Amino acid sequence: ASTRINENHRVDLPEVDTQEVPHNGRENATFITLARNEELEALLQSIDQVEKRFNKNHHYDWVFFNDNDFTEEFIQRVSERVSGEAKFGKIPDQYWGYPDFIDQKKAADTRERMKDVIYGSSESYRFMCRYESGFFWKHPLMDNYRYYWRVEPDIKFTCDIKDDPFRVLRETGKKYGFTLALYEIPFVVGGLWDATREFMEKYPEYIHPHNAIRFARLDGDDQSYNNCHFWSNFEVADLDFFRSEAYEAYFNHLDRSGGFFYDRWGDAPVHSLAVSLLMDRNDLHWFKDVGYYHPPFQNCPVDPVVRQELNCECPNIPDVDPGSWYNFAFESNSCIMDYYIALGRE
Ligand code: GDP
Ligand code: MN
Repeated sequence: ASTRINENHRVDLPEVDTQEVPHNGRENATFITLARNEELEALLQSIDQVEKRFNKNHHYDWVFFNDNDFTEEFIQRVSERVSGEAKFGKIPDQYWGYPDFIDQKKAADTRERMKDVIYGSSESYRFMCRYESGFFWKHPLMDNYRYYWRVEPDIKFTCDIKDDPFRVLRETGKKYGFTLALYEIPFVVGGLWDATREFMEKYPEYIHPHNAIRFARLDGDDQSYNNCHFWSNFEVADLDFFRSEAYEAYFNHLDRSGGFFYDRWGDAPVHSLAVSLLMDRNDLHWFKDVGYYHPPFQNCPVDPVVRQELNCECPNIPDVDPGSWYNFAFESNSCIMDYYIALGRE
C-alpha cells in the first residue's frame, strides 16, 4: 500500500480527465492530510479511524503534506496503515512563508498583540492557514484528483460510513461537504468581512446569483459577518472549485489585504465565505450522518435507528454535556440553523 514519490522527480502521471466517473468502484478522489513528524502517533490514530469506519472497504489514496521532510519512520509507519496508496509531498517554499508584500515587522507586532488568543502568537499556524486557504491543491501530487477528504491528527469517526461521501458529491453534483458548523472567535477574523465586501464590490461577476451568503451574514440593516464557518478539519469537496478563477481571485484578494498575517484568519472561515459566496447554495452538503469528532466538538446522527445501523459510538463530552449523548449541531453555538436559513429551509 505504499509508494514513495520522490520530490525531485516529478512523476509523470497519465493525463486524467478529472470529471471522469469511477473505475474499480472508486471515485477520482484522495484523502489529504497536512501534518508534522511529531504528530505521527496522533495521525496513526486518525488513520485507523478512517480505515475502520470507511477506507478498508474502498482503499482510497492518501496524500500527506509537510513543510519539512517527512522522516523515514513517518513514511513507513503511515504507509503500513493506509489501505490505499500513501503519497508524501513536501510543500514548495513559495506556499509556506511570507509573500513579499507582507511587512514582517507588522506581522510580528500582530503576534504580540494577539498573544492571548489561541494560536495568536504563532507564526507557523498562520503559514498553515494560508497554505490551506490558497495552495493545498497546487502540489503536483494533487493534479489528477477531482475530490479530496481532509483528515487531521487526533480526530475520530464514530460511526460506520456506508455511503461513500465522494460518490455522494459526484452523484448529486454537490461540491462542498461538511460535518460541523460553528462560530469563529470574532477577534481572529477582524477585517475578513471588510475584505470580503470589497471583493464583492470589485468582482460582482464571481458572486453566485443563488449563493448561500446568508449562512455567514447577519440579516437586517447591519449585514455584518455573523462569524459562522464550516469547520475545515473535516471537508469533502470538489477540487475544481478551488481551481476556479473565482476562488483564485477571492484568495488573491484576501492574501493581498494581509489578514493572514495582520490578523489570524483561519482557512475555515476563508473556505466558508468562499463557498457561501461563489457556489450555488444547493452545492453545499451537510454530512449529517457522519459521526465525527475533532476536540472539543462532534457531529453524530440524530436518529437513533441510524446510530444503531451505523454502529455509532459517539462519546459523551463531559465538559460540554455531562452524562448524555451529545450532538453539537443543535447547540446554541452551532451554525447549522444559519445553514438551513441560507438554504431557505427555516
Ligand atoms: P487546530 O485544529 O486549529 O487546533 O489546528 P491543528 O494544530 O490541528 O492544525 C491544523 C492542521 O495543520 C493539522 O493537520 C496539523 O497537523 C497541521 N499543521 C499545523 N501546523 C503545522 C505546521 O507547522 N507544519 C505542518 N507540517 N503541519 C501543521
Ligand atoms: Mn486540528
